[in-house]
Amino acid sequence: MAKAEISPIDIYKFLPRTNCGECGEKTCMAFATKLASREARLKDCPPLLKPEFKEAYQKLWEMLKPPVKEITIGAGDKAVRIGGKLVMYRHELAYHNLTPIAIDVTDVTSENELAKRVKRVEEFLYKYIGRELTLDAIAVRSVSNDPATFKSAVDKVMETTDLPLILCSLNPEVMEPALIASHERRPLIYAATTDNWRDMAELALMYKCPLAVLAPNDLDLLKSLAKTLTEYGVEDLVLDPGTFTGDGVSDTINNFTMIRRAVCKGRDETLGYPLIGTPITAWLEGEAKPELNAWREAYVASMLMSRYADLLIMHSLDGWVQLPTVVWRFNIYTDPRKPVAVEPGLRVFGKPDENSPVMFTTNYALTYFTVQSDIESGGADSYLIVIDTEGLSVQSAIAGRRLTSDMVADAIRETGVEQKVRHRHLIIPGMAARLSGEIEELSKWHVKVGPTDSSGIPKFLKENWPPKED
Ligand code: SF4
Repeated sequence: MAKAEISPIDIYKFLPRTNCGECGEKTCMAFATKLASREARLKDCPPLLKPEFKEAYQKLWEMLKPPVKEITIGAGDKAVRIGGKLVMYRHELAYHNLTPIAIDVTDVTSENELAKRVKRVEEFLYKYIGRELTLDAIAVRSVSNDPATFKSAVDKVMETTDLPLILCSLNPEVMEPALIASHERRPLIYAATTDNWRDMAELALMYKCPLAVLAPNDLDLLKSLAKTLTEYGVEDLVLDPGTFTGDGVSDTINNFTMIRRAVCKGRDETLGYPLIGTPITAWLEGEAKPELNAWREAYVASMLMSRYADLLIMHSLDGWVQLPTVVWRFNIYTDPRKPVAVEPGLRVFGKPDENSPVMFTTNYALTYFTVQSDIESGGADSYLIVIDTEGLSVQSAIAGRRLTSDMVADAIRETGVEQKVRHRHLIIPGMAARLSGEIEELSKWHVKVGPTDSSGIPKFLKENWPPKED
């Protein structure tokens, strides 16, 4: 089985070594480095797909294949890839394939309400430090246990959205008509159990769809079912060890962790499939008060994404449940070795002219987008120089010598802001106050120390701009 850490040299040996550049890299060695850090895929090297490299391709595939199988749910642009995990901890190697969040609808909801709910899922969008955080899939639950009713709900969902689907029913007779209607969209069939596994396996094989396997709080049974289904010929499984949100929450986290440990450390191939968590169970086990269920659902979702759910089914669409969930997901799946950064350079707000203020900040994404939003909310036409501090905030960059007075002086010259304004006044972040004297000396600009918190920028500009000439 593949190791998480592979040297680029070991990979390079099996590449065509022609440096043809078709992969977008200048050399095969550069491509090997990207493969080693899983930032590229084998199919990105077209020559490697030719028959003469069949053996080399196979060797590389064996070397690089993740212990947790990668599985695709859905079709087209909105399809999601789940699993594909190589390591237990994100400090070993960045996690790939962020955990999609599916929101449930039921087949007993009116058509109108169902379409409205699906639209809300589709339109959910939260912009966070330059990224768009979204919800990803729809889980259609059969509550009626009636094949025609379930199929009709699945039809309605497909009419409304291209998002990937999870079809939820433990009854194969209910599942089949919906699957016939939707199999080209490659839904996840949820779920095979000890009672229905053979029928569900037949459906998965006939309609070529991935199959979830459910064995709540029974890892031996889950493993045995996964083994049986694999031997039966089902290749794409998703494992559900059960989600308990009340007293059973510690068992739940334990089960998820034990499975991932068995796969990543113990090289247990039987369990080498993505894991599905269902925080929605908070509503089934839960309290009378909806906000308590939603709260429980939210924290269990975050716990499960940290330990080690590759896919979630949730119910609540409230902002206070989903915003922390998608932000937490974003943070877990950010490469811890690379600070989240934006492009350095000159940014223009509104319609600045030769008398407009000039400020600077660093290219740490969180800093930049906070400053951006504060400038925009104040509505001031202005220039902002974004300095490349390798993704560090103002304070950290100064402490680590990633932000120096020379860099500020250079950025003023390189961005061409000198040609855009007539004045020579620079507003610097309050956190950079200690650089003010040196910046003045090196840039020959007058420095005005701005607020330590960028939320103070609008008030600061109102009181201090235009500057009094010295
Ligand atoms: Fe090398 Fe393949 Fe990239 Fe060409 S496409 S440079 S052969 S890795």
